[in-house]
Amino acid sequence: MESKNTNPIQSKKIAIGIDIGGTSTSLGVIDREGHVLYEKKPAIQTPSKNENPDGSKLKSEEILNTFIQTIVTEIKNAIDTVKKTYSDIELEGIGIGAPNANYYQGTIEQAVNLPFIGIIHFTELLRIHFPECPIIKITNDANAAALGEMIYGGGKNMKNFVLMTLGTGVGSGVIVNGNLVYGHDGFAGEIGHITTVPGGRLCGCGGLGHLETYCSAPGMVRTAFELMVKYGTKSSSLINYSFKDLTSKIIFEEALKGDSLANETFEITGNYLGEGLADVVHHLSPEAIFLFGGPVAAGDLIIAPTKKSMEKHLLPVFKGKIKILQSQLPKDSAAIVGASALVWKACEK
Ligand SMILES: [Zn+2]
Repeated sequence: MESKNTNPIQSKKIAIGIDIGGTSTSLGVIDREGHVLYEKKPAIQTPSKNENPDGSKLKSEEILNTFIQTIVTEIKNAIDTVKKTYSDIELEGIGIGAPNANYYQGTIEQAVNLPFIGIIHFTELLRIHFPECPIIKITNDANAAALGEMIYGGGKNMKNFVLMTLGTGVGSGVIVNGNLVYGHDGFAGEIGHITTVPGGRLCGCGGLGHLETYCSAPGMVRTAFELMVKYGTKSSSLINYSFKDLTSKIIFEEALKGDSLANETFEITGNYLGEGLADVVHHLSPEAIFLFGGPVAAGDLIIAPTKKSMEKHLLPVFKGKIKILQSQLPKDSAAIVGASALVWKACEK
């Protein structure tokens, strides 16, 4: 979605999209149509939890100040770069996707993978540097992706859908009547933590048997290893990988080569996901469920068993009505494109 337009005398409305991930922070400039006009490469390094091993409040503030300063510098740099193409640009806002972000408060709260302690007033800290910026909004990355799907992607003409992100974890964003559901306190849509197997695998959140422990990329790896234990060492080429080295991508590649254990891993993952999505449908009656993330690149290998399992577990009134689709957000820049959608959504109001 690169812009092909090089006419220097043009006005352009832009949004800044920022995605704060566990290891890196992407930042870019996006227009209303979802074109990425600029993306900071390489991405900014997100401060690591290791920088504040003792959980010191003072250290947290110091790391945060440096991080904010870097982001501010990179936003200004991004705007200057885009100005070389478009002489007259209008900054409509800054949208941020981050873990444990609270849309209502503009905060990042107790994020377990970041070195920051307690509640960080992230949008306020940015506002000090951009007092004229009309909109500065933050939400979690899966919510941002769902908004991106609605503003630019496959959900453009839909009012009710759910987007599931399958990656290190399982995230979700819920769109009802054309709006993202934030819930009472801003944290709605944690479908990854519904109980799939009572008393099952230990989840990163401390709970047991959550959907995330079966349908995230590491969850698939756990399933593959369980199957290897079940069928023995000669059962699969996956046996050549250590638990640390095996990825959902390798399972996908081996499945394509016909490895039956790799194929069964997808089958099982789809079964769990479909059963969970049937519950989602029972709650929300969406038009479609979009799937996003690494394991979704496997296409029908994951989508077919998911669809079959969902249909099997649906109430008759929903059967055959709900589409399961691959996300149409650009794969490489989906995170910043999604974050920027926060701005355009806020502009509508
Ligand atoms: Zn959990």
